[in-house]
Amino acid sequence: KQRVLSGVQPTGNLHLGNYLGAIRNWVDNQAQYDNFFCVVDLHAITVPHNPATLATDTYTIAALYLACGIDLDYSTIFVQSHISAHSELTWLLNCITPINWLEDMIQFKEKAIKQGENVSAGLLDYPVLMAADILLYDADKVPVGEDQKQHLELTRDLAVRFNHLFGQGEPVLKLPEPLIRPEGARVMSLTDGTRKMSKSDPSELSRINLLDDPDTITKKIKRCKTDSVRGLTFDDPERPECHNLLMLYGILSGKTKAEVTAECQDMGWGQFKPLFTETLIASLQPIQDKYKAVMDDKAYLESVLKNGREKAEEVANKTLNRVKDAMGYSRPL
Ligand code: ATP
Ligand code: MG
Repeated sequence: KQRVLSGVQPTGNLHLGNYLGAIRNWVDNQAQYDNFFCVVDLHAITVPHNPATLATDTYTIAALYLACGIDLDYSTIFVQSHISAHSELTWLLNCITPINWLEDMIQFKEKAIKQGENVSAGLLDYPVLMAADILLYDADKVPVGEDQKQHLELTRDLAVRFNHLFGQGEPVLKLPEPLIRPEGARVMSLTDGTRKMSKSDPSELSRINLLDDPDTITKKIKRCKTDSVRGLTFDDPERPECHNLLMLYGILSGKTKAEVTAECQDMGWGQFKPLFTETLIASLQPIQDKYKAVMDDKAYLESVLKNGREKAEEVANKTLNRVKDAMGYSRPL
Protein backbone atom coordinates (compact mmCIF):
# COMPACT_ATOMS: atom_id res chain seq x y z
CA LYS A 1 0.00 0.00 0.00
CA GLN A 2 1.09 3.57 -0.62
CA ARG A 3 1.76 5.72 2.41
CA VAL A 4 -0.28 8.83 3.30
CA LEU A 5 0.68 11.52 5.80
CA SER A 6 -1.18 14.66 6.84
CA GLY A 7 -1.89 16.80 9.89
CA VAL A 8 -3.65 19.78 11.42
CA GLN A 9 -2.22 22.35 13.84
CA PRO A 10 -3.80 22.73 17.28
CA THR A 11 -4.06 26.50 16.80
CA GLY A 12 -7.78 26.47 17.61
CA ASN A 13 -10.98 24.66 16.76
CA LEU A 14 -11.33 22.61 13.62
CA HIS A 15 -13.57 24.32 11.10
CA LEU A 16 -15.45 23.41 7.97
CA GLY A 17 -12.42 24.22 5.78
CA ASN A 18 -10.20 21.77 7.66
CA TYR A 19 -12.92 19.16 7.39
CA LEU A 20 -13.85 19.55 3.72
CA GLY A 21 -10.37 20.43 2.46
CA ALA A 22 -8.46 17.80 4.42
CA ILE A 23 -9.98 15.42 6.97
CA ARG A 24 -12.96 14.29 4.90
CA ASN A 25 -10.53 13.17 2.21
CA TRP A 26 -8.35 11.33 4.72
CA VAL A 27 -11.42 9.43 5.85
CA ASP A 28 -12.82 8.66 2.40
CA ASN A 29 -9.55 7.27 1.03
CA GLN A 30 -8.11 5.63 4.12
CA ALA A 31 -8.80 1.96 3.27
CA GLN A 32 -6.71 2.34 0.14
CA TYR A 33 -3.56 3.56 1.93
CA ASP A 34 -1.30 3.06 4.96
CA ASN A 35 -2.08 6.33 6.77
CA PHE A 36 -0.32 8.49 9.36
CA PHE A 37 -2.27 11.46 10.73
CA CYS A 38 -0.60 13.74 13.24
CA VAL A 39 -1.57 16.71 15.35
CA VAL A 40 1.20 19.12 14.39
CA ASP A 41 1.72 20.89 17.69
CA LEU A 42 5.26 22.03 16.86
CA HIS A 43 3.74 24.05 14.01
CA ALA A 44 1.28 25.64 16.43
CA ILE A 45 4.02 27.66 18.16
CA THR A 46 5.19 29.42 14.98
CA VAL A 47 2.74 32.17 15.99
CA PRO A 48 2.23 33.28 19.61
CA HIS A 49 0.41 30.50 21.50
CA ASN A 50 -1.21 29.92 24.86
CA PRO A 51 0.65 27.32 26.98
CA ALA A 52 -2.46 26.83 29.12
CA THR A 53 -4.47 25.40 26.20
CA LEU A 54 -1.88 23.73 23.92
CA ALA A 55 -2.21 20.25 25.44
CA THR A 56 -6.01 20.26 25.60
CA ASP A 57 -6.27 21.62 22.05
CA THR A 58 -3.98 18.81 20.92
CA TYR A 59 -6.26 16.20 22.50
CA THR A 60 -9.35 17.87 21.04
CA ILE A 61 -7.95 17.62 17.53
CA ALA A 62 -6.95 13.98 17.97
CA ALA A 63 -10.46 13.22 19.28
CA LEU A 64 -11.98 15.02 16.29
CA TYR A 65 -9.92 12.86 13.92
CA LEU A 66 -11.65 9.84 15.45
CA ALA A 67 -15.03 11.59 15.49
CA CYS A 68 -14.74 12.40 11.78
CA GLY A 69 -14.21 8.73 11.01
CA ILE A 70 -10.48 7.99 11.08
CA ASP A 71 -10.31 4.22 11.50
CA LEU A 72 -7.41 2.72 13.45
CA ASP A 73 -7.51 -0.39 11.29
CA TYR A 74 -6.07 1.69 8.48
CA SER A 75 -4.61 4.73 10.19
CA THR A 76 -2.15 5.77 12.88
CA ILE A 77 -2.88 8.92 14.92
CA PHE A 78 -0.03 10.60 16.81
CA VAL A 79 1.25 13.89 18.21
CA GLN A 80 4.15 15.51 16.35
CA SER A 81 6.04 16.76 19.43
CA HIS A 82 6.05 13.24 20.93
CA ILE A 83 8.53 12.20 18.26
CA SER A 84 11.81 14.07 18.41
CA ALA A 85 12.83 12.99 14.90
CA HIS A 86 10.58 15.76 13.50
CA SER A 87 12.66 18.48 15.14
CA GLU A 88 15.92 16.79 14.33
CA LEU A 89 15.23 16.28 10.63
CA THR A 90 14.07 19.89 10.44
CA TRP A 91 17.50 21.04 11.58
CA LEU A 92 19.28 18.83 9.06
CA LEU A 93 17.04 20.08 6.24
CA ASN A 94 17.40 23.69 7.39
CA CYS A 95 21.06 23.54 6.53
CA ILE A 96 20.34 22.78 2.88
CA THR A 97 17.37 25.18 2.53
CA PRO A 98 18.02 28.47 0.73
CA ILE A 99 16.45 31.28 2.76
CA ASN A 100 14.91 32.85 -0.32
CA TRP A 101 12.82 29.72 -0.95
CA LEU A 102 11.19 30.33 2.43
CA GLU A 103 10.79 34.07 1.92
CA ASP A 104 8.80 33.32 -1.26
CA MET A 105 6.11 31.34 0.57
CA ILE A 106 2.68 32.96 0.35
CA GLN A 107 1.59 31.70 3.79
CA PHE A 108 4.72 33.19 5.37
CA LYS A 109 4.04 36.57 3.78
CA GLU A 110 0.39 36.54 4.83
CA LYS A 111 1.04 35.44 8.40
CA ALA A 112 4.06 37.73 8.77
CA ILE A 113 1.94 40.75 7.87
CA LYS A 114 -0.51 39.83 10.64
CA GLN A 115 2.32 39.41 13.17
CA GLY A 116 3.71 42.89 12.61
CA GLU A 117 7.09 43.17 14.35
CA ASN A 118 6.99 39.82 16.12
CA VAL A 119 7.76 37.45 13.26
CA SER A 120 9.71 34.48 14.59
CA ALA A 121 12.35 32.47 12.76
CA GLY A 122 9.97 29.57 13.36
CA LEU A 123 7.29 31.12 11.15
CA LEU A 124 9.78 31.40 8.30
CA ASP A 125 10.90 27.83 8.94
CA TYR A 126 7.35 26.38 9.04
CA PRO A 127 7.61 24.73 5.59
CA VAL A 128 10.88 22.96 6.48
CA LEU A 129 9.25 21.43 9.55
CA MET A 130 6.37 20.39 7.30
CA ALA A 131 8.83 18.84 4.83
CA ALA A 132 10.40 16.88 7.70
CA ASP A 133 6.93 15.63 8.80
CA ILE A 134 6.25 14.27 5.33
CA LEU A 135 9.69 12.96 4.38
CA LEU A 136 10.17 11.07 7.66
CA TYR A 137 7.31 8.74 6.72
CA ASP A 138 8.31 8.22 3.06
CA ALA A 139 4.84 9.52 2.23
CA ASP A 140 3.60 8.94 -1.32
CA LYS A 141 0.52 11.15 -0.96
CA VAL A 142 -0.28 14.18 1.19
CA PRO A 143 -3.99 15.09 1.29
CA VAL A 144 -4.28 18.82 2.02
CA GLY A 145 -6.29 21.91 1.12
CA GLU A 146 -5.30 24.14 -1.78
CA ASP A 147 -3.43 26.58 0.49
CA GLN A 148 -0.74 23.97 1.24
CA LYS A 149 0.13 23.27 -2.40
CA GLN A 150 3.12 25.60 -2.41
CA HIS A 151 4.53 24.00 0.74
CA LEU A 152 4.25 20.58 -0.90
CA GLU A 153 6.23 21.84 -3.86
CA LEU A 154 8.91 23.07 -1.50
CA THR A 155 8.99 19.65 0.18
CA ARG A 156 9.60 18.02 -3.19
CA ASP A 157 12.28 20.57 -4.07
CA LEU A 158 14.03 19.88 -0.76
CA ALA A 159 13.90 16.12 -1.29
CA VAL A 160 15.38 16.51 -4.77
CA ARG A 161 18.11 18.77 -3.40
CA PHE A 162 18.93 16.39 -0.56
CA ASN A 163 19.09 13.38 -2.88
CA HIS A 164 21.29 15.32 -5.27
CA LEU A 165 23.70 16.45 -2.53
CA PHE A 166 23.90 13.24 -0.50
CA GLY A 167 22.24 10.42 -2.42
CA GLN A 168 25.24 9.04 -4.34
CA GLY A 169 22.92 7.92 -7.12
CA GLU A 170 20.39 6.34 -4.72
CA PRO A 171 17.45 8.48 -3.57
CA VAL A 172 17.47 8.81 0.23
CA LEU A 173 14.21 10.75 0.49
CA LYS A 174 10.99 9.88 -1.31
CA LEU A 175 9.21 12.56 -3.35
CA PRO A 176 5.60 13.02 -2.11
CA GLU A 177 2.64 14.15 -4.16
CA PRO A 178 -0.17 16.43 -3.01
CA LEU A 179 -3.68 14.99 -3.00
CA ILE A 180 -6.04 17.92 -3.43
CA ARG A 181 -9.68 17.15 -4.14
CA PRO A 182 -11.01 20.17 -6.06
CA GLU A 183 -14.35 20.10 -4.23
CA GLY A 184 -13.92 21.91 -0.89
CA ALA A 185 -10.20 22.52 -1.38
CA ARG A 186 -10.66 26.19 -0.59
CA VAL A 187 -13.47 27.08 1.80
CA MET A 188 -13.76 30.83 2.20
CA SER A 189 -14.38 32.97 5.27
CA LEU A 190 -18.01 33.76 6.14
CA THR A 191 -17.16 37.41 6.63
CA ASP A 192 -15.00 37.88 3.51
CA GLY A 193 -15.45 35.63 0.47
CA THR A 194 -12.01 36.50 -0.86
CA ARG A 195 -10.11 35.05 2.12
CA LYS A 196 -9.85 31.45 3.21
CA MET A 197 -11.55 30.26 6.38
CA SER A 198 -8.84 29.95 9.08
CA LYS A 199 -8.51 28.81 12.67
CA SER A 200 -6.33 31.80 13.37
CA ASP A 201 -8.79 34.44 12.10
CA PRO A 202 -9.55 36.56 15.18
CA SER A 203 -13.24 36.71 14.26
CA GLU A 204 -15.28 33.68 15.38
CA LEU A 205 -17.98 34.82 12.94
CA SER A 206 -15.65 34.08 10.03
CA ARG A 207 -15.90 30.30 10.42
CA ILE A 208 -18.14 27.37 11.33
CA ASN A 209 -16.35 25.13 13.81
CA LEU A 210 -17.07 21.41 13.81
CA LEU A 211 -18.11 21.71 17.47
CA ASP A 212 -20.42 24.74 17.12
CA ASP A 213 -23.85 24.14 18.65
CA PRO A 214 -27.05 24.77 16.62
CA ASP A 215 -27.62 28.24 18.14
CA THR A 216 -24.11 29.36 17.29
CA ILE A 217 -24.41 28.05 13.73
CA THR A 218 -27.76 29.81 13.30
CA LYS A 219 -26.29 33.07 14.57
CA LYS A 220 -23.19 32.83 12.38
CA ILE A 221 -25.20 32.14 9.22
CA LYS A 222 -27.64 34.94 10.02
CA ARG A 223 -24.72 37.34 10.25
CA CYS A 224 -22.53 35.99 7.44
CA LYS A 225 -21.68 38.34 4.58
CA THR A 226 -24.01 38.29 1.57
CA ASP A 227 -25.11 40.84 -1.03
CA SER A 228 -28.28 42.50 -2.24
CA VAL A 229 -28.51 40.79 -5.63
CA ARG A 230 -31.70 38.79 -6.21
CA GLY A 231 -31.21 35.12 -7.12
CA LEU A 232 -28.22 32.96 -6.18
CA THR A 233 -25.45 32.01 -8.61
CA PHE A 234 -22.17 30.11 -8.73
CA ASP A 235 -18.99 31.46 -10.34
CA ASP A 236 -19.76 35.18 -10.33
CA PRO A 237 -16.45 36.89 -9.47
CA GLU A 238 -18.46 39.83 -8.12
CA ARG A 239 -20.17 37.48 -5.65
CA PRO A 240 -17.50 35.37 -3.91
CA GLU A 241 -19.64 34.91 -0.78
CA CYS A 242 -22.55 33.60 -2.83
CA HIS A 243 -20.33 31.11 -4.63
CA ASN A 244 -18.82 29.89 -1.36
CA LEU A 245 -22.15 29.35 0.41
CA LEU A 246 -23.71 27.52 -2.55
CA MET A 247 -20.61 25.35 -2.87
CA LEU A 248 -20.77 24.45 0.83
CA TYR A 249 -24.47 23.73 0.63
CA GLY A 250 -23.89 21.42 -2.34
CA ILE A 251 -21.12 19.42 -0.67
CA LEU A 252 -22.95 19.05 2.64
CA SER A 253 -26.30 18.12 1.11
CA GLY A 254 -24.73 15.78 -1.44
CA LYS A 255 -26.26 17.71 -4.33
CA THR A 256 -24.48 18.45 -7.61
CA LYS A 257 -23.78 21.95 -8.83
CA ALA A 258 -26.61 21.62 -11.38
CA GLU A 259 -29.05 20.51 -8.69
CA VAL A 260 -28.07 23.38 -6.38
CA THR A 261 -28.36 25.85 -9.26
CA ALA A 262 -31.84 24.62 -10.14
CA GLU A 263 -32.94 24.73 -6.50
CA CYS A 264 -31.47 28.10 -5.55
CA GLN A 265 -31.30 30.32 -8.62
CA ASP A 266 -34.58 32.08 -7.82
CA MET A 267 -34.09 32.21 -4.06
CA GLY A 268 -33.29 35.22 -1.90
CA TRP A 269 -30.98 35.05 1.11
CA GLY A 270 -33.97 34.98 3.44
CA GLN A 271 -34.96 31.64 1.98
CA PHE A 272 -31.48 30.18 1.50
CA LYS A 273 -30.02 30.91 4.92
CA PRO A 274 -32.45 28.78 7.00
CA LEU A 275 -32.09 25.92 4.51
CA PHE A 276 -28.29 26.11 4.69
CA THR A 277 -28.34 26.40 8.48
CA GLU A 278 -30.44 23.25 8.77
CA THR A 279 -28.10 21.35 6.44
CA LEU A 280 -25.06 22.46 8.44
CA ILE A 281 -26.53 21.47 11.79
CA ALA A 282 -27.60 18.06 10.47
CA SER A 283 -24.19 17.31 8.92
CA LEU A 284 -22.23 18.22 12.05
CA GLN A 285 -24.49 16.36 14.48
CA PRO A 286 -22.98 12.87 13.99
CA ILE A 287 -19.42 14.23 14.34
CA GLN A 288 -20.35 16.03 17.56
CA ASP A 289 -22.04 12.94 19.04
CA LYS A 290 -19.00 10.77 18.31
CA TYR A 291 -16.68 13.48 19.67
CA LYS A 292 -18.53 13.48 23.01
CA ALA A 293 -18.23 9.71 23.24
CA VAL A 294 -14.48 9.82 22.55
CA MET A 295 -13.90 12.61 25.06
CA ASP A 296 -15.79 10.66 27.74
CA ASP A 297 -13.12 7.98 27.59
CA LYS A 298 -9.82 9.76 28.18
CA ALA A 299 -7.95 6.50 28.80
CA TYR A 300 -8.94 5.27 25.34
CA LEU A 301 -7.73 8.44 23.65
CA GLU A 302 -4.44 8.23 25.55
CA SER A 303 -3.95 4.65 24.44
CA VAL A 304 -4.62 5.64 20.82
CA LEU A 305 -1.91 8.30 21.00
CA LYS A 306 0.52 6.02 22.81
CA ASN A 307 0.15 3.25 20.23
CA GLY A 308 0.35 5.86 17.50
CA ARG A 309 3.58 7.24 18.88
CA GLU A 310 5.18 3.82 19.02
CA LYS A 311 4.26 2.98 15.45
CA ALA A 312 5.19 6.38 14.05
CA GLU A 313 8.46 6.57 15.96
CA GLU A 314 9.73 3.34 14.50
CA VAL A 315 9.19 4.56 10.93
CA ALA A 316 10.50 8.07 11.63
CA ASN A 317 13.70 6.93 13.35
CA LYS A 318 14.56 4.61 10.49
CA THR A 319 14.37 7.48 8.01
CA LEU A 320 16.29 9.80 10.30
CA ASN A 321 19.13 7.27 10.57
CA ARG A 322 19.18 6.87 6.80
CA VAL A 323 19.45 10.64 6.43
CA LYS A 324 22.22 10.98 9.01
CA ASP A 325 24.18 8.13 7.43
CA ALA A 326 23.89 9.79 4.02
CA MET A 327 25.11 13.09 5.47
CA GLY A 328 28.15 11.41 6.96
CA TYR A 329 27.33 11.54 10.67
CA SER A 330 29.00 9.15 13.10
CA ARG A 331 26.64 6.76 14.90
CA PRO A 332 26.28 7.19 18.68
CA LEU A 333 28.18 4.45 20.54
P1 ATP B 1 -4.13 28.46 10.80
O1 ATP B 1 -4.97 29.68 10.54
O2 ATP B 1 -3.63 28.37 12.21
O3 ATP B 1 -3.03 28.25 9.78
P2 ATP B 1 -5.82 26.66 9.34
O4 ATP B 1 -7.28 26.86 9.45
O5 ATP B 1 -5.16 27.17 8.11
O6 ATP B 1 -5.14 27.22 10.67
P3 ATP B 1 -4.14 24.31 9.33
O7 ATP B 1 -3.93 23.50 10.58
O8 ATP B 1 -3.08 25.26 8.93
O9 ATP B 1 -5.54 25.09 9.48
O10 ATP B 1 -4.41 23.33 8.11
C1 ATP B 1 -4.88 22.00 8.27
C2 ATP B 1 -5.42 21.45 6.95
O11 ATP B 1 -6.64 22.12 6.61
C3 ATP B 1 -4.48 21.67 5.78
O12 ATP B 1 -4.53 20.52 4.95
C4 ATP B 1 -5.06 22.85 5.05
O13 ATP B 1 -4.75 22.86 3.67
C5 ATP B 1 -6.55 22.64 5.28
N1 ATP B 1 -7.29 23.91 5.24
C6 ATP B 1 -7.12 24.97 6.09
N2 ATP B 1 -7.99 25.96 5.79
C7 ATP B 1 -8.72 25.51 4.74
C8 ATP B 1 -9.79 26.08 3.97
N3 ATP B 1 -10.25 27.29 4.24
N4 ATP B 1 -10.32 25.35 2.95
C9 ATP B 1 -9.85 24.10 2.67
N5 ATP B 1 -8.84 23.51 3.35
C10 ATP B 1 -8.28 24.20 4.37
MG1 MG C 1 -3.03 27.11 7.94
